[in-house]
Amino acid sequence: MTQPPIERTQRDADRPVGYRDVVRALRSLRIPPNRPVIAHSSLRALGPVQGGAETVAGALIEVFEQLVVPTFTYKTMVVPENGPPDNALFYGSHNDRNKMAEFFYPDMPADKLMGAIAEAVRKHPDAARSGHPVLSFAGVNVRPYLESQLLAEPFAPLAVMYDKSGWVLLLGVDHTANTSIHLGERLAGRKMYTRWALLSDMVVTCANFPYCSDGFNAIEPLIDPFTRRTQIGQAEVQAIPLHELIETTRQLIQADPTALLCSRSDCLSCNLIRRQHVRTKHGVIPEDTGG
Ligand SMILES: [Zn+2]
Repeated sequence: MTQPPIERTQRDADRPVGYRDVVRALRSLRIPPNRPVIAHSSLRALGPVQGGAETVAGALIEVFEQLVVPTFTYKTMVVPENGPPDNALFYGSHNDRNKMAEFFYPDMPADKLMGAIAEAVRKHPDAARSGHPVLSFAGVNVRPYLESQLLAEPFAPLAVMYDKSGWVLLLGVDHTANTSIHLGERLAGRKMYTRWALLSDMVVTCANFPYCSDGFNAIEPLIDPFTRRTQIGQAEVQAIPLHELIETTRQLIQADPTALLCSRSDCLSCNLIRRQHVRTKHGVIPEDTGG
């Protein structure tokens, strides 16, 4: 149920967000305290914050006993000369990017795309991080989730959080940042990809890699009845139970294999999945090269 926006005076709007504002807003979501929470966030979306990303990270850790954030590092990825077909990748054309790629190390900063708040959680003295060279997660009091991750099962931490009735928090970001929808895609049988990354002096294969999230906002009206909302500074905050999110995604894709795909004409993945769906519908075995 959509809650009416909290009324704010002009003076409130001009005042920088403080630690207590963030704590109060997060508590108003009434997420049971023993549930794991994965937070995706944009510091900039909040407007001015006293103390910056560390203030918001500290408030998240204060309110949620078990907090996970994405700390992905795409700069470790390399593309080989050859690889499997139907992989939404142009092989052999990434030599310059390969030369820039870096070996993953446990303290490697998360990509800027993950946001300053996620990076501040990663750097918290009590935080731990998983070891996937591209799709690592970090957090506080969440070792069992982090340790469940495998190279071939990058979303295992989210699956364990799902089992523990976890929640997703979107703080100033929309569903295109909502990684848990990829777990729903995987459970629905949607095509995943093979990618490669630099780890421990070698190139490792990362199976079951997701691709595009540009079409994920189409899920919003379907999960609106389960979504709790509040406001922090200038940002809308949404909290969604993982169970409802993932089951809605799974049912949606199983009913329509093209659901939640983007409409970009140059999207290798979404166009590949659409073409394969058309061929399957007409009884033709998919044989697209995907490139
Ligand atoms: Zn796409």
